[in-house]
Amino acid sequence: MSRNLSEIPKAYDPHTVETRWYQFWMDRGYFTPAIDRQKQPFVIIMPPPNITGELHLGHALTATLEDIMARWHRMKGEPTLWLPGMDHAGIATQFVVEQALAREGTTKQALGRDKFLERVWEWKRKYGHNIAEQHKRLGTSCDWSRERFTMDEGPSRAVRTTFARLYHKGLIYRGERIINWCPRCVTAISDLEVEYRDTPGHFWYVRYHLKGGDDFITVATTRPETILGDTAVAVNPQDKRHKGVVGKTAILPVIGREIPIIADDAVDPAFGTGAVKITPAHDPVDFEVGQAHGLPTVNILNPDGTMNQNAGPYDKADRYACREQLVARLESEGLLVKVEPHQHSVGHCCRCGTAVEPWVSQQWFVRIAALAIPAIDAVTDGRIRIIPERFTKVYLNWLENIKDWCISRQLWWGHRIPVWYCGDCGEVIVSVDDPGGCTKCGSSKLEQDPDVLDTWFSSALWPHSTLGWPDDTEDLGYFYPTSVMETGYDILFFWVARMIMMGLENTGEIPFHTVYLHGLIRDDKGEKMSKVKGNVLNPLKLIDQYGTDALRHALSTGSSPGNDIRLSTDKMEAARNFANKLWNASRFILGNISEKVSDKPSPDGLALEDRWILSRMNRLIADVHQLMGDFHFGEAQRQVHDFVWGEFCDWYIEIAKLRLQGENPPLPVLVNVLETSLRLLHPFMPFITEEIWQNLKGHIDRDMGGSIMMAPYPVADGPALDDAAESAMEVVIDVVRAIRNTRAEFKVEPSKWIEALLAADDARPAIEAQAQAIEALARVKPLTVIGTGDGRPDNCKTIVLKGAEVILPMAGMVDLDAERMRLEREIAENQADIARLEIRLKDDKFLSRAPQHVVEKERERLAVQRDRAARLRERLAELV
Ligand SMILES: [Zn+2]
Ligand SMILES: [Zn+2]
Repeated sequence: MSRNLSEIPKAYDPHTVETRWYQFWMDRGYFTPAIDRQKQPFVIIMPPPNITGELHLGHALTATLEDIMARWHRMKGEPTLWLPGMDHAGIATQFVVEQALAREGTTKQALGRDKFLERVWEWKRKYGHNIAEQHKRLGTSCDWSRERFTMDEGPSRAVRTTFARLYHKGLIYRGERIINWCPRCVTAISDLEVEYRDTPGHFWYVRYHLKGGDDFITVATTRPETILGDTAVAVNPQDKRHKGVVGKTAILPVIGREIPIIADDAVDPAFGTGAVKITPAHDPVDFEVGQAHGLPTVNILNPDGTMNQNAGPYDKADRYACREQLVARLESEGLLVKVEPHQHSVGHCCRCGTAVEPWVSQQWFVRIAALAIPAIDAVTDGRIRIIPERFTKVYLNWLENIKDWCISRQLWWGHRIPVWYCGDCGEVIVSVDDPGGCTKCGSSKLEQDPDVLDTWFSSALWPHSTLGWPDDTEDLGYFYPTSVMETGYDILFFWVARMIMMGLENTGEIPFHTVYLHGLIRDDKGEKMSKVKGNVLNPLKLIDQYGTDALRHALSTGSSPGNDIRLSTDKMEAARNFANKLWNASRFILGNISEKVSDKPSPDGLALEDRWILSRMNRLIADVHQLMGDFHFGEAQRQVHDFVWGEFCDWYIEIAKLRLQGENPPLPVLVNVLETSLRLLHPFMPFITEEIWQNLKGHIDRDMGGSIMMAPYPVADGPALDDAAESAMEVVIDVVRAIRNTRAEFKVEPSKWIEALLAADDARPAIEAQAQAIEALARVKPLTVIGTGDGRPDNCKTIVLKGAEVILPMAGMVDLDAERMRLEREIAENQADIARLEIRLKDDKFLSRAPQHVVEKERERLAVQRDRAARLRERLAELV
């Protein structure tokens, strides 16, 4: 008795399936690994998304690739830990809460530090979990029982411990340096948080008087207000135009400060007039020049972007108002030589969009060059492998030229710097725990440094701080060093390099063995997705529309490490169609199982197609094993997809259908290939595979365990490989394809049966064995198999294939008279077109007047028509 098909829904409905199985996996604790000292664990620490975050496609890609790895290793029997977490994201979160306060008509200053932080924690409790919940919809098999937040007690202690250790080793110091400053957020920000935008601006050419005479020197600037902070003018020592002025004194317009004219090789004589203004407080290059020449640093800005008292008459003016007023004044005094329009790239704060200022201020820094050396060694000696390999050079180059890292931020939300200043003796106390009093004079008048640490400081410790460091925990002992760090190539420096440096510094061990870098996601035209362009796809909407497995499949199939990925609705539809194809095939197979069946086909009595599909599958398993081991997940997935759709569904199931009612129904093979394919696919498409597998499980006569995710990943069975069966089936498939193509070419009705002859020698037995299948799949009857030397009828379409010839009598396919007339009509039209084009292309007037591309187009048309003429004549000849 056949199984009642109404038990299995006709169409695959991802939504009910996904929530049900995710909960099932969670309830059974499958995501939490058992520590087994006999086995090497597989460990991924998830790049922690920001608590402010909404799931975007970048997260979806990260989660998909990491889940593929985690599920694959888990199925291989390795204790697998995928540890999730969240990042407090200092500046981003502070900005969001500040905006909420603004809507209430208040500010963080009005609230005060403690009240403000309470608000951020409240916000975190309310919204901070969204991103984790959204990750669950992607099917992520993370161990949520080990979830960490960067500001948890443990990771916070790791931060303080690291700071104190580095400080006491002399690797953290406080100093005046130039940094990126956001006047709206009123904090230093990292290079990563600066977004460069092409902005229309100007080059203002301004004359400075030379002291003791009527001479001038002209400099060009894009930020005229910074003139007020100039402390020198510099020229290239080789520049003959300015030879005489080196050593003289220039006088700054408006404020009249006297500044030296110096020579420096760094000046590009081709830039502007060859004389450049030096503003050490507001330009990173000028800062270096200033240091080298011992120039004073004159800061002209307040933290909020207004001018300060050093700006003379512009004290308290907004920086742009000052610019406008100053330019007007220079013009009225005849000091403005000219103004040129100039497109330049201006840094903006990526949180609030305000133009940032390079600004000298007192900040904390890590002397990172010392930490870079072991991090360079770890990659050059192969302890850490970067995939794709080309990023190794980028990584090494960055570390070899590394600059000190500014780690202080003038924010309130984050890890507060563990430094206290004594109000009585000025002692600086750096301590993991809050000090009870001054370590030098015992005073209790201690004040903690108001700044917090760069968010990346805690991120840099993530692989060891999440596992319990600085404590010597069981997790740290077993799971560290971790296996793979998977992230976007865009944060190789900001994050990956720093994790390697800090991991080596704190634990003496590398934090991970492999760095896997994925690309960016672009739209179908290859453009970056952006809100402005309106081409952003929202992963949650895509999941609603197509299902999680379809999204995962579309994101990862065919992708390769480090290369950008194009995503389009076409791709999403193709992925959904694949899920439906798999569903329908499974439904068909399940519908044909009555009693319990074996999924172990007995080797004797296998038909050619059985041996073929089992051979193809085992070859695939071996390839997938190799590809996955080499981190080519996208290619592995593509091959599984092509096997399931292109070989199993399109050929094997179609041929097997003919045998289902017969004496030897191929159920064990059908079930075996389906069940194995599901396990092969599970890491990529976890939900649909679990749903079908659970339906299948009850019909197989052995104990299969509780879930596909805990079932073993397929291992290739060498003896199943069968070259003879593969080449024989290849001939059969080629024959059916050739007949189908010819039918399409002659527009034969799909339901019509046509006559066919097949000529073969070596492949004859295979073709004869598959005659019934060929008949059914190509819709040919009668089918006659002959030797290649045998006589054959006239007036046939013949297709020569490797190993066989397909001979199709024309009369069976077309109404010969009607087809002949149709072709003759087409030939006449084609000849007229050719004649017209030839005349045109011999016309000198046309050739001399028409644009080149138009002429080219006509030539192409002629070539196409001539080609068509040949084919039409061939077709007509076949009819005779
Ligand atoms: Zn900002
Ligand atoms: Zn003291």
